[in-house]
Amino acid sequence: MKGIIDPNIEIPDDQVAMAFFRSMRWVNGVYCPKCKSYNINNRGSQGRTRRYACKDCGTNFNNFSGTIFHKSKISLNVMLYILFNLDKKTTTQLSEELNYSRQCISRISKLFRDKLLNNAEFFDIEE
Ligand SMILES: [Zn+2]
Repeated sequence: MKGIIDPNIEIPDDQVAMAFFRSMRWVNGVYCPKCKSYNINNRGSQGRTRRYACKDCGTNFNNFSGTIFHKSKISLNVMLYILFNLDKKTTTQLSEELNYSRQCISRISKLFRDKLLNNAEFFDIEE
């Protein structure tokens, strides 16, 4: 795989990562992020991203619209790897392992911390 230096690190397969992500996101089927309609046209794929159009409001969107993965240049499997290793490895370690800049890794780490780990909305936290 491009950019991977250390053969001992385990990064999830990209296709598995995408399937995992889709199954989480579209658990009840694909719906429009704007009007929540399930009345969707499939517009094919762009790279690994599936594109859709809403028949009700006309919004174009893809798998990643409205998520922190939107516009990320890092592939999903690598992002998941970063997420799973946020507390185990330093930014420098991750940057060297994955061959992405420290700036890039720290931006992703911050996104995960702000939007996911520190977002009580996504956790069942008992009072
Ligand atoms: Zn819509």
